[in-house]
Amino acid sequence: FNVPPAVNEPVLNYGPRSVERAALKAALEAARSQQVDIPMYIGADEVRTGNLKELRPPHDHKHLLGTFHFGDKSHVNAAIDAALAAKADWENLPWEQRAAIFLKAADLVAGPYRATINAATMLGQSKNAYQAEIDAACEFVDFLRFNVQYMTEIYQQQPPVSGKGIWNRVEQRPLEGFVFALTPFNFTAIAGNLPASAAMMGNVVVWKPADTQVYAANVIMQIFKEAGVPPGVINLIYADGPEVGEVVFNHPDFAGIHFTGSTGVFQNIWQTIGTNIHKYKTYPRIVGETGGKDFVLAHPSANADVVAVALLRGAFEYQGQKCSAASRAYIPASLWPAVKEHMVREMATFKMGPTEDFENFINAVISEVSFDKLAKYIDDAKADDSVELIAGGNYDKSQGWFIEPTVIKVDDPFYVTMCTELFGPVLSVYVYEDDQFEQIMDTIDKTSIYALTGSIISQDRYAIAQATQRLRNAAGNFYVNDKPTGAVVGQQPFGGARGSGTNDKAGSMINLLRWVSPRTIKETF
Ligand code: GLU
Repeated sequence: FNVPPAVNEPVLNYGPRSVERAALKAALEAARSQQVDIPMYIGADEVRTGNLKELRPPHDHKHLLGTFHFGDKSHVNAAIDAALAAKADWENLPWEQRAAIFLKAADLVAGPYRATINAATMLGQSKNAYQAEIDAACEFVDFLRFNVQYMTEIYQQQPPVSGKGIWNRVEQRPLEGFVFALTPFNFTAIAGNLPASAAMMGNVVVWKPADTQVYAANVIMQIFKEAGVPPGVINLIYADGPEVGEVVFNHPDFAGIHFTGSTGVFQNIWQTIGTNIHKYKTYPRIVGETGGKDFVLAHPSANADVVAVALLRGAFEYQGQKCSAASRAYIPASLWPAVKEHMVREMATFKMGPTEDFENFINAVISEVSFDKLAKYIDDAKADDSVELIAGGNYDKSQGWFIEPTVIKVDDPFYVTMCTELFGPVLSVYVYEDDQFEQIMDTIDKTSIYALTGSIISQDRYAIAQATQRLRNAAGNFYVNDKPTGAVVGQQPFGGARGSGTNDKAGSMINLLRWVSPRTIKETF
């Protein structure tokens, strides 16, 4: 079985008179003009509980997109039972057949479902067309295709050495039990990848997305079904997080978790798994990508425009709601006036508003909870004499959860917004004296409780080498002369350590290997 080497799905540009824009507009209109009723998918059943939750675009909270049926513990149990019932057939299916299913899923996303899944991501998660395209279309397709390639390599690995009278082999078994996938609102691609990568390796999955992601999750599930993922292999449920956890983490067949979300939730999960460890048949695989507090460090040799663009794109694309978003910057005093001038000038041109008009660069943040939290941080910063408001600072929730992109300059490199993940369009800047480059790297490392992404911007090769070495544990994805966001599957495997997760690089062989438990067989004759 040979698949052609995966190549990245091209990003379409949605120009004013393009075919893709017309298709996307039609999909947006269709989605807006109907109200979907989204069931849970457990085994072969669509489950409707009648306990309805509403779905509304974050940028237009007066519009109802539809409802979804909320479940309880009995549905979590039913999903686990359905997964376990599907297990034997699924894991005995030749892996080439599983590969074919996920390659077909990739083709469905890239082709017939592209407009639908992008529209769902724009409406449900308030991404603009470009942000939806690089996530729900391209990155999702890339995860599927590259993972199939890595999977092929895993199953076709060189066998161990055998000798005269001895035949040694290694068999890649799926985990014994079910895998639980818990997915975040901010990337449709991640929502699809977390259940798919475990399922691809022969596992059965119970998948719970964030409530704020159900709209796109429903489209993903249609795609999986149409691609031929058999009933019960991936079960999609919606229920209260702690209730789901109580059932999943007490179950003897719990065999692994594939998680992207907050550090706090992940640590609680890890603790619960630890407490329950004697209840499981096997040590569960714990794979998680959690928070980030990602830095951009400019060296005095840097080009001020390169710094400003890295900050603007890194901090404000998708309203800063990426784990990888640039949220703290360290700028030398000599560069600051030029960097500031460029940022302020550019930010005055930012358009903010709904996603559907193809003009707005900035859309809404995901929820009222997020809006209120960000508004409070901004108010506190404005009230603090040691903090200077450089740009933005306004917010408005009359129509949607709109937070204006905001830049603040702080006097203290340990100020709360320099260390805490805010998950929104707020960038904190600390200006350091040009001769303090080495000291500032120490400060960055010390304040890197998270260690997901970071950038050094410099034209000085010695400074680049120094930063690459000194900050080696402060980021799992380190960028030189670029923004710290936008890792591409197959090009920059993504993930971080410290408070940012287990660093099992999404969309890589490292990740797929967490979903198998190898058996070594020695036969003598
Ligand atoms: N992989 C994304 C990036 O490089 C971030 C993923 C996330 O926010 O979890 O920007």
